[in-house]
Amino acid sequence: MQIKELLKLTPSEQEVTVKGWVRTKRGQVAVTFIAINDGSTIHNIQAVAEGGAIDEETLKLVSTGACVAVTGKLIASMGSGQAVELKAEKIVIYGTADESFPMQPKKHSLEFLREKAHLRFRTNTFGAIFRIRHTLAFAVHKYFNDNGFFNLHTPIITASDAEGAGEMFHVTNFDMEKPPKGDDGNIDYSQDFFGRKTSLTVSGQLEGELGALALSKIYTFGPTFRAENSNTTRHLAEFWMIEPEVAFYELEDNMNLAEDFVQYVIKYALENCADDLTFLEKRLLEEEKSKPQNERSDLSLTEKLKFVVENQFQRLTYTEAIEILVRSKPHKEKKFQYNVAWGIDLQSEHERYLVEKHFKKPVILTNYPKDIKAFYMKLDEDNKTVRAMDVLFPGIGEIIGGSQREDDYEKLLARTKEVGIDPENIWWYLETRKFGSAPHAGFGLGFERLVLFVTGMTNIRDVIPFPRTPKSAEF
Ligand code: ATP
Ligand code: MN
Repeated sequence: MQIKELLKLTPSEQEVTVKGWVRTKRGQVAVTFIAINDGSTIHNIQAVAEGGAIDEETLKLVSTGACVAVTGKLIASMGSGQAVELKAEKIVIYGTADESFPMQPKKHSLEFLREKAHLRFRTNTFGAIFRIRHTLAFAVHKYFNDNGFFNLHTPIITASDAEGAGEMFHVTNFDMEKPPKGDDGNIDYSQDFFGRKTSLTVSGQLEGELGALALSKIYTFGPTFRAENSNTTRHLAEFWMIEPEVAFYELEDNMNLAEDFVQYVIKYALENCADDLTFLEKRLLEEEKSKPQNERSDLSLTEKLKFVVENQFQRLTYTEAIEILVRSKPHKEKKFQYNVAWGIDLQSEHERYLVEKHFKKPVILTNYPKDIKAFYMKLDEDNKTVRAMDVLFPGIGEIIGGSQREDDYEKLLARTKEVGIDPENIWWYLETRKFGSAPHAGFGLGFERLVLFVTGMTNIRDVIPFPRTPKSAEF
């Protein structure tokens, strides 16, 4: 029986068997206390082996990290800290672990645990993180399913490099030592597996739009890949993206969806991951003690989450944001590293000022200059800005990027050429604007950035089981 279920039982000396990994063993002459965890919950069950009940040879093999099955009677616990415990009658050792097992019960740095990604699941911190990650993923599907969206599986291998030219991983089955060349000396991709140059996708959006223009409401939830060499605490080379796309939605509907959706999944985690969040909240508090007073957060983790769930996001245009930034103290005192002026791509320091200092809540910025946004965003009447929206979160920065899409064939074609994309390459995308075009909008939420926010972790490498970052793809 899972420990999570077992801990809910009323003890009446019923016989149960627990299977899991030993977290600690505290031995005394007459009695041994063994804390066992099976990952179903942050809580351990305590097995008590009283003198003679278990033979000494077996008991010796019960050590931190070992995998065991303990059978015995479930009784009310004498000790504080748990309601029930297991009076051990039989222990089967599945796998031993000696003192070289790295996850000994002491404080390990997150850096150390990253190097032991194959074993870090067996710590309280990572158990909590990955249970919460699962719950959030489940909440994502639940939200969309309950609201009439269809999950669309967009391709992982793609031939369109429309979005992130230069930042894509190539997919080929050429012999890299001697790829076939054409008469011009260039690699001849027509001989490659797909008969063209292909890459791993950076976003499922373009294909998602095709689905939305028939099914009306779709969402994707899949892996995306970016070969950008940004070694930050917020970027991965492989991450999971959630991309809803909705026909007949305009920018404002899109903002409403983003806000409602994010609030729903965070609320779902608050309601279903209370134990894990309590644990991570304490962890964060400990971590913050080592920071100077002015860098510590005024709110605890759950307070922060509740705040986001209960308060409306601040909505303003890019132009209004620039005005605020220009009037701000750090700008006047030249404290920003990057200059502020209409037309710039906002830097993380600017976004954080708006969210953390000025508004002190999540912010949705809209109507960015067209030159700093993608070609498919709908042009505003002024011909200068587009119907883009970025959702910015405290401590994270951009968590969502989205827009209303250009639905006018001629305008889209013109923008495609303007930014240097060959219309031939995305003829299928353009064609949806020729046949029954409709206003539509959507956005992309980086799943790991959401998990970062909810768990209160600070490095994105700690919220995905096996991070892929520049120069790192072990495990
Ligand atoms: P950023 O400016 O932070 O690099 P972006 O503008 O490149 O983000 P989009 O292309 O709009 O991001 O992607 C949509 C969402 O995907 C972002 O809002 C973010 O949550 C997430 N995201 C983007 N790049 C990464 C990455 N390398 N690792 C993890 N999440 C990412
Ligand atoms: Mn980016």
